[in-house]
Amino acid sequence: MGKVLVIGCGGVAGVAIQKCAQNDSVFTEICIASRTESKCIALKNKLEGKTKAVITTAQVDADNVDSLVALINQVKPDVVLNLALPYQDLTIMDACLATGVHYIDTANYEAEDTEDPAWRAIYEKRCKELGFSAYFDYSWQWAYQERFKEAGLTALLGTGFDPGVTSVFTAYALKHYFDQIDTIDILDCNGGDHGYPFATNFNPEINLREVSAPGSYWENGKWIEIPAMSIKREYNFEEVGMKDMYLLHHEEIESLAKNIPGVKRIRFFMTFGQSYLTHMKCLENVGMLRTDPIMFNGQEIVPIQLLKALLPDPASLGPRTVGKTNIGCIFTGTKDGKQRSIKIYNVCDHQECYKEVESQAISYTTGVPAMIGTMLVMNGLWKKPGVFTVEEFDPDPYMDALNKWGLPWVVDENPVLVD
Ligand code: NDP
Repeated sequence: MGKVLVIGCGGVAGVAIQKCAQNDSVFTEICIASRTESKCIALKNKLEGKTKAVITTAQVDADNVDSLVALINQVKPDVVLNLALPYQDLTIMDACLATGVHYIDTANYEAEDTEDPAWRAIYEKRCKELGFSAYFDYSWQWAYQERFKEAGLTALLGTGFDPGVTSVFTAYALKHYFDQIDTIDILDCNGGDHGYPFATNFNPEINLREVSAPGSYWENGKWIEIPAMSIKREYNFEEVGMKDMYLLHHEEIESLAKNIPGVKRIRFFMTFGQSYLTHMKCLENVGMLRTDPIMFNGQEIVPIQLLKALLPDPASLGPRTVGKTNIGCIFTGTKDGKQRSIKIYNVCDHQECYKEVESQAISYTTGVPAMIGTMLVMNGLWKKPGVFTVEEFDPDPYMDALNKWGLPWVVDENPVLVD
């Protein structure tokens, strides 16, 4: 049916590309382009003989709009799937506009250099106006709305698991179970064990920035910010068991607050073990999570990038990770005048993912929805001009595709609530 250009070839892209290759009646051609082309070639070789899709590779610097434009003009894809880092979102959107191609990603824009004065001025104004201090937010990408609309192009933002599937679960709950959703609790549990004292499940720089930042939630029309890790709850997760979880800021809260009419409270919790938190605190205290450059032996280094080089590569965790993830949402609200609550969730087994695509479940649960969102834009079901997050479309075809492509979900109509 069409051609996808995937940018980035890390953990998430590895899964998304294998899923596109499995779905070769939709993805008849796949071009994999990244900073390090050897990784793209290795993946192409791995897929040799396993798919009817025609696979090509390229090298690209996705920080450079001209290089991206040249690549897109040469490849001529129907859609670009951005699975590089959130730092590249805007350059890739610019290149899509310049070449007339649809755009899809899994994480909203984040500035790489948070010391840049021009960026900081906008950031500090936003902190004051909106009341949360995360380095990432949707304003940068929502600012492309008119340009995508005028160009007749779709930009689909945040089609991973969270954001992504959690927002589709919300749209599905609103369509089929509620007249009014009052509260949403998003619960992200990773019950996996990789056997290392400390490692992150996806890009360490992005992951550690997210976790060490202040938490925040949406309540009664405004943001409430709290010190990092200061709200803790315990929850008994289906197929995983009892875990500690902590309230974090998370990007889908921002778009759900805008798109779910009348919602009163949205919170996001993620599970962490004590050992992970102790390691992270220690690294933070000694300055290893710093994202600004320091001089070392006459050379500029960024501490968090050095840390990334020391930590296990998230892509290498697959064979050693055992256990399951359980990610989902608890909704409360009303239907036909009566109070009700439901939970929609997916359980994913790390080892089953490894058997299928040689990846752990974190990349799997992001890569599968990235393929699904891309498929729905390509086949026209989710194609409309403008910039959208996933809850703004009909959830039904996406929910069907989750069941078909490896992330089956469950609706529990009598869930335990979080206080
Ligand atoms: P990785 O670090 O494993 O992969 C990133 C890839 O992007 C690498 O192949 C890297 O190249 C490439 N890349 C980085 N910078 C450039 C550049 N300037 N030009 C070209 N290529 C570049 O990250 P993940 O796969 O873990 O994450 C990918 C995305 O998925 C991120 O945006 C992350 O935030 C998002 N994500 C979303 C989740 C969700 O549920 N919504 C969950 C997890 C992740 P190289 O190989 O040379 O380093």
